[in-house]
Amino acid sequence: MAKSSAAISAEKKALNQIQLIIREDYTGSGKLKNRVAVITGGDSGIGRSVAVLFAREGADIAIVYNSSDKDAAATKALVEAEHSTCLVIKGDLTEEKFCRKMIRDVHKHFNRLSILVNNAGTHEPDDDFMKVSSRQFHHTFDVNMYPFYYCSQEALKFMDADGCIINTASVVAFRGSDHLIDYAASKGAVVAFTRALAKNLAGKGIRVNAVAPGPVWTPLIYASFSKKHISEFGKKTPMGRAGFAYELAPAFLFLASADASYITGQVIHVNGGEIVD
Ligand code: NAD
Repeated sequence: MAKSSAAISAEKKALNQIQLIIREDYTGSGKLKNRVAVITGGDSGIGRSVAVLFAREGADIAIVYNSSDKDAAATKALVEAEHSTCLVIKGDLTEEKFCRKMIRDVHKHFNRLSILVNNAGTHEPDDDFMKVSSRQFHHTFDVNMYPFYYCSQEALKFMDADGCIINTASVVAFRGSDHLIDYAASKGAVVAFTRALAKNLAGKGIRVNAVAPGPVWTPLIYASFSKKHISEFGKKTPMGRAGFAYELAPAFLFLASADASYITGQVIHVNGGEIVD
């Protein structure tokens, strides 16, 4: 059956929104002026939107990624179009040595480090728990949890006295997921890490918070889910749709800015209205 013109125009609108990095009418006001932010997984998806929004608010940026040189170059160009510097670092965050050197290199380059966004992540869906291999379980934690520890610990050696760490969690850390068991467990660990580290650092002036996205249209979704899953993606949220990366980035900005000066150990849920606790 041929698609109706309404369906075609809805699809076109959705495609435009997927490609949108930040809201077109967003005006920066120097909220991150003179700040330097490291964003892991900053080449694409949520990380790219965070990089460009932070740049629009005046920050210089370092993005870290593992494979897509094309995405990294595109993000660098977008950040530079905001009149900010963008340092691009390629490597594997599962390697502790790389994480620590990367942080030192960022500090050396900018002579400053203000904000760390631990955002890189991975998932491999599996409906059958018995098929979740030990290799996969380890890999999920190797990407989604250990680098948060390596990068945070190294960054704290150089961070501004009023610096902050923002971790990307997920709605599934709170409500679970029958087909993303290792992933949900790793994101649960991210939430506990956020709360514990926030308590540890509260007296020192460093804030640690998290953003927990619900379903968001990003390359991770297209790379890991089946066509059937993608066709249903986000439809069960109260808003009845998945979110877009540009709708996530403002939560990171709020937590990174002085507007959140009395907020630490918290999670902002950007998930289309699902109530979780
Ligand atoms: P994405 O695919 O655009 O981003 C993932 C990033 O992680 C990539 O930039 C990639 O370079 C980086 N990465 C992965 N493994 C790495 C490694 N070993 N070393 C270095 N970099 C590595 O997808 P996204 O959806 O924007 O994901 C960003 C974060 O949001 C992830 O932590 C993800 O778990 C989380 N999240 C996404 C959704 C969603 O629906 N898209 C929902 C909840 C949480």
